[in-house]
Amino acid sequence: MKASKFNLFFPHDGYQVGYNGYTDSFIVLEPMLYEMYDASKRSKSFAELQEVHSDFYNNLLDNGFVVEEAVDEVERVKQASLKIDNDMSKFELHINPTMNCNFKCWYCYETHIKDSKMDAATIEHTKKFISRVLDQQTGLKEFSLGWFGGEPLLYFKKVMVPILQYANAACKEKNVVFISHMTSNGLLVDQEVIDMCKEYNLNFFQITLDGNRERHDKVRFISEGKGSYDKIVANMKNIVENGLTVVARINISPETLVGVDDVLKDFSDLSEQAKGLFVLIFIRFGKSKKILTMR
Ligand code: SF4
Repeated sequence: MKASKFNLFFPHDGYQVGYNGYTDSFIVLEPMLYEMYDASKRSKSFAELQEVHSDFYNNLLDNGFVVEEAVDEVERVKQASLKIDNDMSKFELHINPTMNCNFKCWYCYETHIKDSKMDAATIEHTKKFISRVLDQQTGLKEFSLGWFGGEPLLYFKKVMVPILQYANAACKEKNVVFISHMTSNGLLVDQEVIDMCKEYNLNFFQITLDGNRERHDKVRFISEGKGSYDKIVANMKNIVENGLTVVARINISPETLVGVDDVLKDFSDLSEQAKGLFVLIFIRFGKSKKILTMR
């Protein structure tokens, strides 16, 4: 047996919190247990651990932190990815309604082309494309529409709604499940947007926070001296309280890590039902990005 390549451990409050990226599992270890795990990993043998602490060993095994020696984990991920790519029962289309945005984050790679948006002809071509997929892809069971940008909500009524309406109705007619999701900065998600999203099955938002209020407002501000944190947090809460899912992507860097607990506190008043729809993802900024998911 060997330690999984996809294990990531980090210290928290005197414990070691482990995450396995393949099984999407967490484990919290007391220092002594972590030392036992680490010693087994370094000696490249888990036989002794299995003998002296079988419960712990089985837990590591069940959660994918320890795998059979013969398992090629990279190949296993490739196969899982290919399986998704070749799954003809699902089709996913991503649309960027605009390359413009109402923020100017320093790390943004978008072009911020002013007034850029999908024109009427492209909207019609997109509708035709959706129809063609629904007509021609045999075995199709689910059609998914993703929205990205720039900030897609800049053109919610002009671009998103007509396509959502069309795709939703066309899928219904063909008995294909329609789902939609959006990556947004969250500033423009008001009640009207939420109600229309619910109507057209757009039920999943990814929204980024650049750390706590103080840090976020230095990156994403409406105007000088006017941050966006409070508004975005309020909008995120409203989305989940309305029964839609929010993935809050927290950008982590040495600067944002300080005070990141504040973000958790700011969501502590969510209802129990809403908490189940709220997911936190921590993305580390830097040369290599590591992704941690917390539910
Ligand atoms: S909110 Fe997103 S699209 Fe807009 S400037 Fe920031 S990173 Fe770019």
